[in-house]
Amino acid sequence: MIKIDLHLHSAFSDGELSVPELVLSLKKCGVSVAALTDHDTTNGVELFLARCRSAAIKSMSGVEISAAYGGVLHITGYRFGLENKALQDALKKNRSARLDRNLRICERLRELGLDITLEEVRTYAGSDLIGRPHVALAMVNKGYVHSISSAFERYLKRGAAAYVPRLLLPPEDCIGVLRLAGGLPVLAHPLQTTPDLDDLPPVLRRLKDAGLWGMECWFPGASPSVVYRCLGLAREFELRPTAGSDFHGDRHAGKHVGVAVNEDLLPWAVLCGGL
Ligand code: AMP
Ligand code: ZN
Ligand code: FE
Ligand code: FE
Repeated sequence: MIKIDLHLHSAFSDGELSVPELVLSLKKCGVSVAALTDHDTTNGVELFLARCRSAAIKSMSGVEISAAYGGVLHITGYRFGLENKALQDALKKNRSARLDRNLRICERLRELGLDITLEEVRTYAGSDLIGRPHVALAMVNKGYVHSISSAFERYLKRGAAAYVPRLLLPPEDCIGVLRLAGGLPVLAHPLQTTPDLDDLPPVLRRLKDAGLWGMECWFPGASPSVVYRCLGLAREFELRPTAGSDFHGDRHAGKHVGVAVNEDLLPWAVLCGGL
C-alpha cells in the first residue's frame, strides 16, 4: 500500500495551511503522491511542486473547478500545463464571478442584520481567492454563529437565507478546458453529486462522453461499501479511480491528509509525467 492524496486545499484558496505547511504535513503522514487542488486558482501550484520535490513526494499540477449543475458537481484536474491560456482565462472568469457573488452575500447578510463587509471577509483569505468559508469565519469571529458549519446551515448553504448562486461553467466546459490544457479531469467526491450512488450512472455517462478521465473513489465520508461501489462504477465507465482527502485544515474536523491505496492503483508515470 502507498498513501496518496490528490485532493488538497491550501491558503491560496480556502484551506487553512500555507503550501509549505501542507507539504510538511503530507511528509509527516507518509504521503508519497500528492496534488494541490485549490478552487479556481493554480497560484500555489509551483511552490507546491517545488516543496514536494524537496520532500521526495511525487506531485503534479492540480485544480478544482465547480461546474454548473442542479447540485454539487466538482471537477478536479491534474497534470495540465500551468501556462495554458484558455484554462487560466476560465479560472480568472470564475474568480471574478466569485467576487460579484461575495459582494452580494455580504449585502444579503447586512439585510438580515449581520454587519459583515467584504473588506472584513478579505482579511480571512490567504490570497485574492475568497470563498464562503471565509465569510463563515468572519461570521464566527463576530459571534453571529458558533461554528463554520452553523454559518453554512443557517445562512450560506444552497437555499439558506444569504445563499447567492455563482456563475459556473457547464461540466462539459470544465472537462473540455482541462483536456485542452493537457489535463486529466476527475469527478470529485461523487456522493456530493448524487447522494444515492444508484443515480450516478447517467451523470457518469454524460461526463465520460465529455472527456472525463477519472473518478474519486476514496473521499471523505466514503464507507468501505461506498468505495467498493465507486470502484465498480469507475470500472464500468472506464474511469481511473483516484483518492483524495479534500483536506482544508484541522479546523474541519475528521479530515486528514493521505489515503492508503494499492500501489498499482494508478499509472503514476502518466499522472506525474513531466513534472
Ligand atoms: P464556495 O467555493 O465559495 O462556493 O464555497 C465552497 C466551500 O465551502 C467548499 O469547498 C467547502 O470547503 C465549504 N463548504 C461547503 N458547504 C459547507 C458546509 N455545509 N459546512 C462547512 N463548509 C462547507
Ligand atoms: Zn474548499
Ligand atoms: Fe469540492
Ligand atoms: Fe475540494
